[in-house]
Amino acid sequence: MKINKLIAHSSNFNMGRKQKIQFLVIHYTANNGDLAKSNCNYFKLPNRNSSAHYFVDEKEIWQSVEDNDMAWHCGTRGKYYHSSCRNENAIGIELCSEKDRKGNYYFTNETINNAVSLVKILMEKYNIPIENVVRHYDVTHKNCPAPFVNNITAWDNFKNSLTEEYMFVERNYSYNGKVKSFKVINEQGENFIRARDLADLLNKNISYDNKTKITNLDDIFSNITVEVGNKNTTVKAINSGGFNFVKVRDLADVLGYETGYNETNNSIFFNLKKSIIDKLKLLKSR
Ligand SMILES: [Zn+2]
Repeated sequence: MKINKLIAHSSNFNMGRKQKIQFLVIHYTANNGDLAKSNCNYFKLPNRNSSAHYFVDEKEIWQSVEDNDMAWHCGTRGKYYHSSCRNENAIGIELCSEKDRKGNYYFTNETINNAVSLVKILMEKYNIPIENVVRHYDVTHKNCPAPFVNNITAWDNFKNSLTEEYMFVERNYSYNGKVKSFKVINEQGENFIRARDLADLLNKNISYDNKTKITNLDDIFSNITVEVGNKNTTVKAINSGGFNFVKVRDLADVLGYETGYNETNNSIFFNLKKSIIDKLKLLKSR
């Protein structure tokens, strides 16, 4: 994942640090559909009185303060609720937020996925244990990041995805002469593909049951509901980084395709099942 950089005005942070980096503090921007880069532009101007190291949106990661400089994101003149996490030893990561019709803030799966990637990189780089990935709320009790304070399951899911290790493999898939390569999870010999990737290949619109869109990350296997036409069908899925990876064979079956292996272009192909073609023919001839 590429990390872009646009360093904030020097009046918005302290050069250097007095302590080594030990914590990653997660925040939200409390905006509706803002962009990581726009936040960096905002902090380019002087006297903002706050700052953060990184901003993450659905598509990009932007850095605003160098890791080894101290940003102002979790300080308070009031009471600290965390024994040791402070601006001096923490990296602040802001997730761009969205607001639903009721005015509740949320993060899109794409933003969460990008944040997971960034946090994993920083955990690795600075040898930060999972328990030192905290919310702003944990430090000062500020309602930040609201989507992870108001919904503790969403926070647990986020943290679980930071430690999940799946084996990703590249696989070629073909349909109607079109061959595409996708990253899939290989779990016990079965391939799980991102539902949207498969939909893209097959030119299908697939919608998810909103309630089950984010399934429990602590269950390795869970079921998600896929809506095909007016029918709801449950398929086996793995949730990783906020994305549902569905079992390729199950989803193909639900959609009325058979799968097979094509040696010539080393791809797993999809064919409409004969029974379904017959049905379509029958309908036409009526
Ligand atoms: Zn915050």
